[in-house]
Amino acid sequence: MIKITAYQGATVGVYGLGLSGLACVRALLAGGAQVLAWDDKQECRDEAARMGAILYDFAALGFDKAAQASQVPRASQAPRALIVSPAVSLTHPAPHPIVQAARAANIPILGDMALFAQAHAEFQAHSNEPAPIIAITGTNGKSTTTALIAHLLNACGYDVQMGGNIGKPVLDLMPPNKSGKTIYVLELSSYQIDLSPDFTPHIAILLNLTPDHIERHGDYADYIAAKWQMFENLPASAHAIIGIDGEKEAALAAQYAKQGKAHLHTIAGTDKPKATIYAKGTVLYDKTGALADFANIPTLQGAHNLQNAAASFAALRALNIPQEKLINAFADFPGLAHRLQPVAHHQNIQFINDSKATNAEATSKALAAFENIYWIAGGQSKQGGIESLSSQFQHFCAWRKCTT
Ligand code: ADP
Repeated sequence: MIKITAYQGATVGVYGLGLSGLACVRALLAGGAQVLAWDDKQECRDEAARMGAILYDFAALGFDKAAQASQVPRASQAPRALIVSPAVSLTHPAPHPIVQAARAANIPILGDMALFAQAHAEFQAHSNEPAPIIAITGTNGKSTTTALIAHLLNACGYDVQMGGNIGKPVLDLMPPNKSGKTIYVLELSSYQIDLSPDFTPHIAILLNLTPDHIERHGDYADYIAAKWQMFENLPASAHAIIGIDGEKEAALAAQYAKQGKAHLHTIAGTDKPKATIYAKGTVLYDKTGALADFANIPTLQGAHNLQNAAASFAALRALNIPQEKLINAFADFPGLAHRLQPVAHHQNIQFINDSKATNAEATSKALAAFENIYWIAGGQSKQGGIESLSSQFQHFCAWRKCTT
């Protein structure tokens, strides 16, 4: 677990006590803060109380009374920060009431990645361990790329701490160990970036952008702006890895290049020889020639996975890892559950679980990869619907819409 010492002796609010909220409570308490915590679910509140948090219903009581719940001697202080879960809306469809109340009381609203960034700055101030952070974002392929980079680094003997949106809360990861080989590999959603505006990884990856989560961001431009925040404050020493398969992303890479920062690596899962690393068929290339052929790696099939592989290749290069070591490690990548995952075979039908394809763009990649498909899909509709998939329906065996 990572301790957060920046609030030692002060009060911090934590609203939303899912896995990452509870990890914040634990990390803040361990670092000597007093934590006021709330969640609508009783069992989550019970868990926070067991850890030592004081339960405080921010929405009902407001922030001015929070000081009275405080047990620190400087009890007149309101919480120094409010840590909210990524599920709490900051802007759309409307700012959550807790967000409005915190803003009115001038209390900074942060997420767990912001706390991690503070802790990481502390590690660096007190030791020579570099413990670089690789942060992966984009509309699709984040988890696959995060897991792939973690897998490659593990194979190269690093102490890999993988977490964030991929599952393990970032504050449940371990601090850098003494080997000097700790690397943080973190998946970030747009919501997490929004809550951590000063988060500056050493290697920042943007895989791709297509409209998604518009209900939370308002429009596509705001969604892009949320993702792009992570690139805006990168120091000149950082590496930016940007997928340029799409026009929008290519324009952002060009914008980044204009800022004159040194380390920009463009990548593509398609034939874009302008990119630092790009794919032709199943082979990845750079300007020196072919790097690796993925034809026989079942877990990395399709142009979308070559985009993920190109980003991973670029990240490990940015760490100066010799590429001979990588080629074999790619071949052993076990893949992730629920992403084009073969789960059963019956007669001549193969059952594929692609339930992590939660938007039309991601699903189109899966549908393009097969013929004679029986497609079982469901869930809440998103803006844009699935009309963009209609060209893929030719791959279907039959089409029947179930309404119950
Ligand atoms: P995320 O974490 O961004 O949701 P995942 O790695 O979990 O992405 O993959 C979810 C689904 O998205 C996969 O099942 C696959 O169909 C599709 N996908 C994976 N990588 C990409 C990519 N680079 N571009 C587009 N679609 C992708």
